[in-house]
Amino acid sequence: MTSPIRAAVTASADYPFKPIDAPVKLDQNECAHDFPSHLKAQVQQRLAALPWNRYPDLNAESLCEAIAAYEGWPASGVVVTTGSNVLIALMTQLAALGKRVVTVKPNFALYALGAKLLETGLTEVPLRADFSLDPAALIAALHADAQAAGTTGVLYLPQPHAPSGSLASQEELGAIVQASSDWLTVIDEAYYQFAGTDAKVLAKANPHVVLFRTFSKAWGLAGLRLGYALASDEVARQLRKLAPPFGVSLQQTVAAQVALENCGYVQERVREVLQERERVYQALRRHPSWQVFPSHANFLLIRTPDAARAFEQLLACGVLVRRQDGNFGMEGCIRMSIGTPSQNDAFLAAAGLPA
Ligand SMILES: *Cc1c(COP(=O)(O)O)cnc(C)c1O
Repeated sequence: MTSPIRAAVTASADYPFKPIDAPVKLDQNECAHDFPSHLKAQVQQRLAALPWNRYPDLNAESLCEAIAAYEGWPASGVVVTTGSNVLIALMTQLAALGKRVVTVKPNFALYALGAKLLETGLTEVPLRADFSLDPAALIAALHADAQAAGTTGVLYLPQPHAPSGSLASQEELGAIVQASSDWLTVIDEAYYQFAGTDAKVLAKANPHVVLFRTFSKAWGLAGLRLGYALASDEVARQLRKLAPPFGVSLQQTVAAQVALENCGYVQERVREVLQERERVYQALRRHPSWQVFPSHANFLLIRTPDAARAFEQLLACGVLVRRQDGNFGMEGCIRMSIGTPSQNDAFLAAAGLPA
């Protein structure tokens, strides 16, 4: 019996994540603090006064307006979806089906996973050994693909990079954007608040550039499932056709609006992450056998002699991190998300280090 399901799907592995319970959860780069309880109460109150029997906006128009005001970006260029991982699938459908996805490796798993599931061509350009971007190699790959296949597609670049935390310079990014003018070029800024960078100027000047942002990390709203694209009016108009109609719920819309109206709490949390990232980084540099990489995000990548052993050693002390040793070039690596000061103390103690 032959299966009607596409072989690309049956051959694909499940998304690489296994939920594990632990007192100190540092495995998903979430915000360590919950959404403030007075803001939760405000969301509840507003929701109680709104009709739940009616469909929400067709394309989350009122939320797009609020995001546009916050970002200083035209609402006509904002597309909201339930998490930026949905945006990745939509973007690949928009410009890479039957064509090509280009990205780097190692990388956030979803770009390559999406390309394989949707059967697009896939080019993964290796980062340097220190996980910095190699702009010349990336530009050469874009040109080679465009020439060999006579076609382009979508380029995905996380900035800062995940899961290493490295950051390309403005000059490097500018050179890549210039060389990728025939490609839709996505700069995934899931962690930009922790890097102090912002690619909006670059995107404004280059309509083939699309920025992805998310409420899941600095905003502390991973449970809400909301991400958005900042794009040119034309790219946004076409992208909206692929997004599910009425896809963003009333509950999501109201919660995000309250967060945007009270965005001051985000800066406080980012400040804490930056302070703690530096403290944990400096402490880890004294580890006798682990090597910590500099990071511009809310996590640290660490190379250990044996990732499985390091993972189990930490978990035995109640500290959950994420193994990265299955990733290209990341032999022995684990990743810890920056937590609260006391969670970070627990991590350092479990690693055998003084805080
Ligand atoms: C966490 C993360 C996201 C956010 O995904 P959501 O679906 O919005 O939660 C996007 N890109 C990268 C690289 C990430 O690490």
